[in-house]
Amino acid sequence: MLMKTFRKELWFNIPERRALINITPQVEAALAESGISEGLVLVNAMHISASVFINDDEAGLMQDWEHWLEELAPEKPYSRYRHNDTGEDNADAHLKRTILGREVVVAITAGKLDFGPWERIFYGEFDGRRRKRVLVKIIGE
Ligand code: ZN
Repeated sequence: MLMKTFRKELWFNIPERRALINITPQVEAALAESGISEGLVLVNAMHISASVFINDDEAGLMQDWEHWLEELAPEKPYSRYRHNDTGEDNADAHLKRTILGREVVVAITAGKLDFGPWERIFYGEFDGRRRKRVLVKIIGE
């Protein structure tokens, strides 16, 4: 058996500061492109102000995450964060990224993402309005 590897970058340019996007279709397209049918896929945000996480694409949850993250790490006032003393305004984005995490790993079985029934992969943008990347790395056979 010969292990194959596949690497792809997904690019995003979110016009708002924050957004939560279901990127499962892009990951499935990368998997199809890879030709790998048994293995693992790693999906990680390549920026420290964005997350990749798994959850359910269900009504209300997007607003619930936004509300919950704003309670834990509110964007404003900018003066509440020492990081923003540097002239940046994205301390909250660093914290939100830490809460929802950097990456996910999903098993690949018979050429498909081997999810639980409601699992979907999301990109969490917390400091958008510029081009940012997500890495998809697939290993297997
Ligand atoms: Zn920063």
